[in-house]
Amino acid sequence: MVRALLILVLFSVFARLFWRFIDGVVRGASMPPPGGRRNSAPSPVKMQPCPVCGTYVVPGRAISAVSSGVAVHFCSEKCRGEYAPR
Ligand SMILES: [Zn+2]
Repeated sequence: MVRALLILVLFSVFARLFWRFIDGVVRGASMPPPGGRRNSAPSPVKMQPCPVCGTYVVPGRAISAVSSGVAVHFCSEKCRGEYAPR
């Protein structure tokens, strides 16, 4: 009688462990690993031509002005001074 009770308790413990294991496997398979690899390739910088002389400049480092709602980027102060929007 005691042995049957022990077997029952052991069985329930094993069943619980088994289901916990299955749950962990399912979660591990469905969730992405923490801090996993990310495809964070830097986006290529789109260069813009200077509207005066045609030199390609990086917008972040160029002299910028907004002309009729469009941002234009100049290679130098000289080009910005010469720029006449049409
Ligand atoms: Zn220029």
